[in-house]
Amino acid sequence: MILTLAGARADVDAEKTREMYARLPYIRQGCQCPLCRSFLERVANFDAEKRVFFAKIGVDAEKCESLWSYPGTRPGTQLYTFRCPLVCVDVSGITEEWETVAEGFSARFAGDGGRVFLEVELLLKWDGV
Ligand SMILES: [Zn+2]
Repeated sequence: MILTLAGARADVDAEKTREMYARLPYIRQGCQCPLCRSFLERVANFDAEKRVFFAKIGVDAEKCESLWSYPGTRPGTQLYTFRCPLVCVDVSGITEEWETVAEGFSARFAGDGGRVFLEVELLLKWDGV
């Protein structure tokens, strides 16, 4: 399936990506800190738009890599950045630009040593301390 973000175009093999995610570990097996637990709870309760966005390319965001968090721009929010490996037939036009997919949700493609990633910035609710 073709996905374009910020001018970059990827032909994602959603079926192979889904198969890859079936074998990947959940992040919660790596970390139990409040920031990770809050992230996973928000991901499990994604709105329909985000759920569809990730599902259509075969990505399970609960199995993302390189999860980082920063205080959000508004009180009661936390900004998370992470990347999700993709199985792609083809990818072209990758830049540093982000595309705003929805409010508080930006994404772009990145390539690293022959692997292709979906990089994501998400502003999520945070009620921790
Ligand atoms: Zn953590």
